[in-house]
Parts: sequence; C-alpha cells; structure tokens
Amino acid sequence: MESLEVVQAHIRAAVPSPRAGMVPLRDALGLVLAGDIAAGEAVPPFANTAMDGYAVRAADTTHAPVRLRVVGDLAAGHAPTTRVGAGDAIRIMTGAPMPPGADAIVMVERTERDGDDGVTIQVPAALGDHIRHPGGDVAEGDAVFAAGAVLTPAHLGVLASLGFADVPAYPRIRVGVISTGDELREGPGVLAPGQIRDSNRPMMVALVREAGCDAVDLGIGRDDEAAVTAMFRDAAASCDAIITTGGVSVGDYDVVKAVLDQLGVLEWWQVSIKPAKPLAFARIDGTPVFGLPGNPVSSHVSFELFARPALRQMMGHPEVDRPVVTAIAGEAMPRRADGKLYFDRVRVRYDGDRYVAVRSGTQASNVLSGMALANGLALLPDGPGIDAGAPLQVMLLT
Ligand code: AMP
Ligand code: MG
Repeated sequence: MESLEVVQAHIRAAVPSPRAGMVPLRDALGLVLAGDIAAGEAVPPFANTAMDGYAVRAADTTHAPVRLRVVGDLAAGHAPTTRVGAGDAIRIMTGAPMPPGADAIVMVERTERDGDDGVTIQVPAALGDHIRHPGGDVAEGDAVFAAGAVLTPAHLGVLASLGFADVPAYPRIRVGVISTGDELREGPGVLAPGQIRDSNRPMMVALVREAGCDAVDLGIGRDDEAAVTAMFRDAAASCDAIITTGGVSVGDYDVVKAVLDQLGVLEWWQVSIKPAKPLAFARIDGTPVFGLPGNPVSSHVSFELFARPALRQMMGHPEVDRPVVTAIAGEAMPRRADGKLYFDRVRVRYDGDRYVAVRSGTQASNVLSGMALANGLALLPDGPGIDAGAPLQVMLLT
C-alpha cells in the first residue's frame, strides 16, 4: 500500500501546467487571473452626484432657508447643458454629472419645491457635499488586481467598470466523465435482473462543475476493452482530463485498469485509505486520466482527494485543497486498526465557538445516502478510533 501523501504528490507533479488565455467576463467567475490588472481609465469617469436633489453653489445656501431659481433638470446618462449661476439650482438625479458652476448637492429631503421655477433650500450646503469625484473608486493607472486572484462577482463588476470585455485568466478545463460497468443502466426505466442505475456519472459531472471545470458527459463504457479503449482515445483528443469510475480494483472485469495497462500508461496504487483504496492514474498523450473506484462513496472521496486538487491546479488555483478544521467528536467514532487513514462521512456544525462532528450514516462505501447527508470528511487516523468529546480533523466539503 502507498500513502495518501505520496500518491497525491505524484499526481500533482504529473498533470499539465495551467495555460493562460483571454476569457470573456461572463465566463470568468471562479477562474484565476493570469496577469496583473491596471486601470486604463478612472471610475467614476466624471464628477457626479451621490444623491437625488439639487446642484447648487454652496455659497448661495449659507443663509438657508433660501429660495433658489430652478434652471434645469438633469438625469443620469445626460450631459449638462445649463450652467448653475449665482442664485441658481438644477434638479439632479443620482449618477448625473455635476453641471458646470455647481459645487455642492443638497439632498431632496432638505428642500421644498416652490412652484415650477423655484426651490427652498432648508439647510446650508458645504462645498463638495454629496459629490463623487472622478477616480474616487479606481484612479487611472491604479494596480487593481494581482495575478493569482480568484475572480468573484465583485471582481467581475470592477473589471466591467473599467471597460474590460475579457480578462487574462486560466480557462476552465474540459473534463470528460465516463462510467464503466455492464450492470449500469441509464434513465428511469425498469431495471433488468442484475442492473443498477448509474449514480456516479451525474455525481461526477456535478463534482467536476463544482470544482470550476466544464464537465463533458461521455456516457457509459461497457466492460469491453475495445469499446473502452476507443472511448479513452476520443476523450483524450477532446478533453483536458478524464474521470472514470469503476473497473480499477482486482476483479476479473476491471476494464479501465486492463485498458490503461495495455496502452502502457497505467499507474495503479492501493492507497492506504478507506474508502477509495484502489486508484488508477494515467496520461494518454499528456491528458491525465483519473480511474476512480466504482463504489459511489469511494468515487466521491477519491475525486475529493486526488482529482479535485489536480484539476484545480491545472486551472492555476493557489489553493487547491479543501479546508481542514479541528472539530470535537459529538459521539464516539470507533474503527478498526488496519494501517489505513479513514475518511468517515460526517455532519459538522459550528456550535458558537467550535465545530462538532457526528457520523452521517452507515460508513460502507456503497451507502451514498450517508455521503449526501455529510458536509465533511473526518480524518480518523489508524487505531481504535476517536472517543466522544475528543478533537479530530475534519475536511469541510461545503
Ligand atoms: P467496480 O469497481 O467496477 O467493481 O465497481 C464496484 C461497485 O461499484 C460495484 O458494486 C458496482 O456495481 C458499483 N458501481 C460501479 N460503477 C457505478 C456507477 N456508475 N453507479 C453506481 N454504482 C456503480
Ligand atoms: Mg465494474
């Protein structure tokens, strides 16, 4: 058996380096910036009002209440055509440019309209009141974001405010997903004797998407070496990485393992963990293949431990691992001493000042319902298990 760390490090060193490209803003959420961003223009681009109200000369309002003449009306999106002279005011809406001559805004709540052509300013305005200055958010030439930033919705908003239509980033990689097994049936129909439904593929497609990649659903591969070989060749030509489930243990029909072996690219380990002991990895013409075990819980945990960090690394992520926190065992978690590190499915909650974890169901590698109820994986080191109330490490999945 090989240790988890050794296998993870091997895979991380084997996958291709991220390749930068230009990505449209609308596709860039969650991607990693591949270059520094400098502002080519100021935000806001011109002085404008932060309030609905009246644009005035502050000096005219010193002895408020005072009546000013309303000489115009200015909405956002319109250039000013009228000057604010002595004794004048212009009705103005939030975001409209400051008209020439005005040097303060009086918010509408501090005014009272006085006929069509007049307004009473009730309190004195100070010079510059409620004016947003050009470059007040971002000045032209500012260093805005550094390479390595993970793009959030707010990053995309700032980039849009600066006129960027696309950004230098590491594009989403395409990850092909294949289920294998003669027993698998697709869709809702009646199961023939011996058949089960393919639960791994929808789950893997979702995990791939959740990791920030594009998932390509490549269907079910039957336990037939020629068919699976052809699927691998097609997938390697059209995807940046391939995920398969099933067919990697030591049974007679372990087709993924057999095919990768024949292609001369198989690297296969028994990893000292539970669940997800067997793992096949390969590179077909440079495209990494993650041959995950077939039992659904094993597939899921294996994806978390081996595929997800590698796929995120391929997209330039500075942080590829899920966070691990110290929690308190809310119940005893006994286990068998067998040389393996266990990843038990747990429900973790924060009780005000600490995390508390309890098992989320039966810990068998085919019991996917327990995985669905879990929001963490408890790391149970080799030994008799963890006593109630004792600290333990939990990998958070959400
Ligand atoms: P294997 O590694 O191919 O021997 O599969 C191990 C177990 O996982 C068997 O019970 C399979 O029927 C089951 N299994 C394999 N693939 C899937 C799948 N896509 N969905 C649900 N169960 C599966
Ligand atoms: Mg199988």
